[in-house]
Amino acid sequence: MSKTTPRIKRAIEIATKAHEGQLRKTGEPYIIHPLAVKKILEEWNMDEDTIIAGILHDTVEDTPLTLKEIEDQFGKDVAFLVNGVTKLSKARSGMKDLDQYLPKTGDNLLKLLIATGQDIRVLIIKLADRLHNLRTLGALPPEKQKKIARESLEVFAPLADRLQMGRVRVEIEETSFMYVNPKRYEELKRLTADRLKKADKKLKAAREAVEQALKKEHIKYKCDGRVKSIYSLHKKLAKYDQNIDRIYDIIALRFIVEDTTTCYLVLGIIHSLFKPMDGRVKDYIAMPKQNGYQSLHTTVITNDKQIVEFQIRTSEMHDYAERGLAATFFYNEQKLTSAYTEGRVSKLPSNLLWIRELQESAAKLASGEKIDRRKLKLNLFADKIFVYTPKGDIIDLPKGSMPLDFAYRLHSEIGAQCTGAIVNGKMVDLKTKLQQGDVVEIITTKNSKPNPGWLDKVFSRHARHKLVSQLHSIFPNFAPKPKEKEPQARHQKTTKSTPNLKPEKTKNNPHR
Ligand code: MN
Repeated sequence: MSKTTPRIKRAIEIATKAHEGQLRKTGEPYIIHPLAVKKILEEWNMDEDTIIAGILHDTVEDTPLTLKEIEDQFGKDVAFLVNGVTKLSKARSGMKDLDQYLPKTGDNLLKLLIATGQDIRVLIIKLADRLHNLRTLGALPPEKQKKIARESLEVFAPLADRLQMGRVRVEIEETSFMYVNPKRYEELKRLTADRLKKADKKLKAAREAVEQALKKEHIKYKCDGRVKSIYSLHKKLAKYDQNIDRIYDIIALRFIVEDTTTCYLVLGIIHSLFKPMDGRVKDYIAMPKQNGYQSLHTTVITNDKQIVEFQIRTSEMHDYAERGLAATFFYNEQKLTSAYTEGRVSKLPSNLLWIRELQESAAKLASGEKIDRRKLKLNLFADKIFVYTPKGDIIDLPKGSMPLDFAYRLHSEIGAQCTGAIVNGKMVDLKTKLQQGDVVEIITTKNSKPNPGWLDKVFSRHARHKLVSQLHSIFPNFAPKPKEKEPQARHQKTTKSTPNLKPEKTKNNPHR
């Protein structure tokens, strides 16, 4: 949808001149890279300023071009974006040498992204940059390939997920995983293909049965099959003892319909045709996933005894799931407004309201309106707090965490031997809720042991899990009480009645 405007043309000229003589590792002229980033940003329907900043994103760091010149030529906004991207790169302790910071990368880099990526568009440019670098990773030496790929899995894929850019997340994951673990990648690819072939006929029958029923009811729909990505299969297998027979959604049939009501209608129709499996109906429309994902999922057993997952959603939900925030730069304000009044967006968990605000701003930007840049400010971690170790390391915890959560996060032995906590220089009770920016120090005593009373003093799933398993080994008869205190920081209002919502999922904390 975007055209090459005179400003974009000028940016290309300036970048080409600035990068003149520089080569990529592939041997191509360097300008290939910023131009590829431009193209990706265009595909994501980003606004003109973002596209220009994408073209110029490596100039300030790698060429004589200055921020001042960029500002003179293209204005404050573009300069701000380029500066943001440059700062991100610089902050990575001289990103020329990945080796220097990579051992610690995960957490710190993601936090860095969030901290420096004040304007969401900075992060989107960064993602486009990373995506192109991944696509051309083959040119680097194998050691570097692995490092960059691992970093992409740990940092950039979760970032894409945060921005709900499902398609980008999948591309990052698949490409990276291929480099991180090529053997496993090929193995799972073969396995998936095999399953697909075996299930093909039965799937077709199931699909036809549903299609027939929908036609009878005059329901308009689109149907496609979606095959689970290799990387998410890999992750899921780890959770299910590598038993692929326990994974029911390798192939899912996806029905895209016109509105929310129809989604539920289709679900009813599917259930009248096939027997739903116990506990496998998931209503992510009423209760969206943490990143805002909406859809109905159900797993059924067909008449041929084939287990099939169905996913039902509106095309708007679909678009949103695939392209996420970047997609919304494309929507005009009208469309957004109607989505809001229809109540689609208001169903987002309240802590995701920032998405809505961003969307509104994005729409305005796309239609050429001036907006207050503060509105593009990011609050990706509304449900998290960042606290510090006495040494200054940043630890992120779910909101509501207490000193023991922090202790277990550092190390399960530090948790087990904790006998006190000092927060901001003062001894505190272990039931104290930690606040953003607290400096936390844990006092440990050798050979001291956890006790069951601590169950009330942990909040995070991680700490609880560690604690319970320690209690088990100390008190063989220990039976944990039911998890009434399951942390639900993101969904406080709906906690009690929402067994499907998984708190503190790994993807929010990709480094566990
Ligand atoms: Mn770059």
